[in-house]
Amino acid sequence: NYILAIETSCDETAAAIIKNGTEIISNVVSSQIESHKRFGGVVPEIASRHHVEQMTIVLEEALKQANMEPKDLTAVAVTEGPGLVGALLIGINAAKAFAFVHGLPLIGTHHIAGHIYANNLVQPMEFPLLALVVSGGHTELVLMCEHGSFEVIGETRDDAAGEAYDKVARVLNMPYPGGPHIDRLAHEATEAVPFPRVWLEEDSYDFSFSGLKSAVINYKHNMDQRGEEIIAEHVAKGFQDSVVEVLTGKTVRAAREFQVKQVIAAGGVSANKGLRTALEKAFKEEGIPFYVPPLKLCTDNAAMIGAAAYEMYEAGIRGNLAMNGRPGMELMSWK
Ligand code: ATP
Ligand code: MG
Ligand code: FE
Repeated sequence: NYILAIETSCDETAAAIIKNGTEIISNVVSSQIESHKRFGGVVPEIASRHHVEQMTIVLEEALKQANMEPKDLTAVAVTEGPGLVGALLIGINAAKAFAFVHGLPLIGTHHIAGHIYANNLVQPMEFPLLALVVSGGHTELVLMCEHGSFEVIGETRDDAAGEAYDKVARVLNMPYPGGPHIDRLAHEATEAVPFPRVWLEEDSYDFSFSGLKSAVINYKHNMDQRGEEIIAEHVAKGFQDSVVEVLTGKTVRAAREFQVKQVIAAGGVSANKGLRTALEKAFKEEGIPFYVPPLKLCTDNAAMIGAAAYEMYEAGIRGNLAMNGRPGMELMSWK
């Protein structure tokens, strides 16, 4: 089984070929970060145009690196949602055309299922499994009892973790995307500005990061008013410590309650060094296996889409040429 996967939900144009859902044969990512940087975030119109320019190049490169031809493929998979509608449509139309021309089945995949399945490219997923999904648009705890079964037990009530990182980075005059810069500053810090931890109700697995973000903005504002300089490293560490403590604390509590066999982290923010270290330490103490993919597979890529699509293919799921971009697509079980 060889799946050609395409991902264009945001600002990465990506294509990959995955063997049997677990082995990366090729994995090509063309990033647009440089084009969006000067606007401080992703500009949808620019993203779509980039995808149009890059799609064919990335597809051909994925086949070339794999040394494969379309006739060697089993199916074509593509991110159906969620994401920017104009961006999604470029990948979907490319996938439809490719599937139609070469007579291959088409599979529409959920972007977050992809982030979670990135882990299956590193070691086999074991169930029940708890996934902490932390990305630019999502922050949620997902319980999986088997392949293709997703139960969201908690999610953010306002900002996603990555969104909070990017906004705080802006306050500190760091370029987009801000996550890696905050991470680096936090590790250079000797002190942390004390910011609140937002735990919400005692039994809740939900998250909230907008209050923390406001606390950082207010701190900067108050310091400015007093004519004092903020120390960016100390602010970054204060912010990151709060995010990491709450994410880790809730993940540990959920892992205990649902007695999971494996815990994984997924999404762009799981590239965060502070978070990775804290989760590794916590689950070592808990005695529960914890995994997080290598950095390249944490941020957006098509390999993860191919990994998820393989399980969908095995479950008999097929899309058709009426497939449309679904910007607000919910994470739904296929089993
Ligand atoms: P979603 O997956 O929810 O649709 P997205 O695809 O835009 O959103 P990803 O590409 O998965 O999100 O992740 C991007 C986010 O990850 C950005 O907000 C970025 O700042 C953050 N990020 C990347 N590296 C780090 C890091 N080292 N520390 C913290 N955040 C990081
Ligand atoms: Mg991205
Ligand atoms: Fe993503």
